Amino acid sequence: MKKLALHWKIIIGMILGIVFGFIMNTVSGGKGFVADWIAPFGKIFINLLKLIAVPLILASLIKGISDLKDISKIKTMGLRTIIIYVGTTLVAIIIGLTIVNLVGPGKGMSQDTIAKIKTKYENDAGVADKLMKASAQKDAGPLQALVDIFPSNIFTSLGEAKMLQVIFFALFVGICLLLISEEKAKPLVSFFDSLNEVVMKMVDLIMLFAPYAVFALMANVIIAFDDTEILLKLLNYAFCVIGGLALMIGFYLLLISIYTKKSPLWFLKNISPAQLLAFSTSSSAATLPVTMERVEEHLGVDKEVSGFVLPVGATVNMDGTSLYQGIAAVFIMQVIWPEGLTFSNQLVIVATALLASIGSAAVPSAGMVMLVIVLESIGFPAELLPIGLALIFAVDRPLDMCRTVVNVTGDATVSMIVAKSLDKLHEPKPQNWDDNYDKVK
Ligand code: ASP
Repeated sequence: MKKLALHWKIIIGMILGIVFGFIMNTVSGGKGFVADWIAPFGKIFINLLKLIAVPLILASLIKGISDLKDISKIKTMGLRTIIIYVGTTLVAIIIGLTIVNLVGPGKGMSQDTIAKIKTKYENDAGVADKLMKASAQKDAGPLQALVDIFPSNIFTSLGEAKMLQVIFFALFVGICLLLISEEKAKPLVSFFDSLNEVVMKMVDLIMLFAPYAVFALMANVIIAFDDTEILLKLLNYAFCVIGGLALMIGFYLLLISIYTKKSPLWFLKNISPAQLLAFSTSSSAATLPVTMERVEEHLGVDKEVSGFVLPVGATVNMDGTSLYQGIAAVFIMQVIWPEGLTFSNQLVIVATALLASIGSAAVPSAGMVMLVIVLESIGFPAELLPIGLALIFAVDRPLDMCRTVVNVTGDATVSMIVAKSLDKLHEPKPQNWDDNYDKVK
């Protein structure tokens, strides 16, 4: 019998997890059972992915840069990557703002619903947590984000998984490897080459566990939903975000087919395991190792491009997040601060959502923290902030899952485009976990 493709196994795991979660919601003690006995397996899976993310970035970027053999190519690649990332993010924000203004999901929400949401979520610990994190972020000086890229101790950066600092260090090492003689560079390059192979193999092995892990992750998401009534009231808003995200995926597929001449279906089929994990984990950072594996081995992007474009993208390119921030900001204004809905404020939202998506961490619900900063930039009244967040809180997790899919798909798309422009897109050579197994079993 033909082996079932990985994405199908993951989809089956997800569906079973959702069904199991709903069943457990109705059984007494079911939620506790999922939390104690099922959810930890999802956590183990995410831990394993995070475990290999940093060594993978380090190894693949150092090896990739030293393979480029030409420093000017690094500049070209860096510039193209940043320009395309900013371009796609602007498209995302414009799509978001257009939809929310045309549909007006916040117009006509009844006072009764607003009052219900307010009572339930205004003083919720989750809302307070987002506000606190946003204020910590805001207190930093304007150039703090730049300063944060340069580490003073690489071991701390590696230990704390500070992505941009690790990328900077890897670039620095890679460039210096190009600047010393080939003979002296060889041992270190071989070391990172070998490390890269090992970590890629780890991804293959961890992915064997993916269908079971997504079962656990989805069951855990489902038991967290408890207020379907409020959820239904927010459907208009949720559909605006989901519709915008779907358009964004369409935009990527268009770019892929026009620029790289590859079939959009082929792209989707090969990137889908990463998309499904992005959906289940709500974290582009946790998904990164899988995104890298899919893009390199299944889409044919050379390591020197994917090793740079994907880690940078996971940290700074969040098209799904920026689209969501645009829609959420305007939706909140439509409901509780309509006088703020001016054209100039929407222009400010374009700029701040761009910066906010760059500044958002690639972890669950980070986009909501940065939404506070977007709202503050247009003078949104501080006393209304908790109500504003309360309004969108109930549907944030499912929307986070969807926007993370777009974030990851955006990174993969841009890596294909940059690779094509540098002639670094080749016939993919997928590897399996057991390619070498016969020799050692
Ligand atoms: N969860 C998103 C990500 O990791 C960020 C966000 O929008 O909250 O890409």
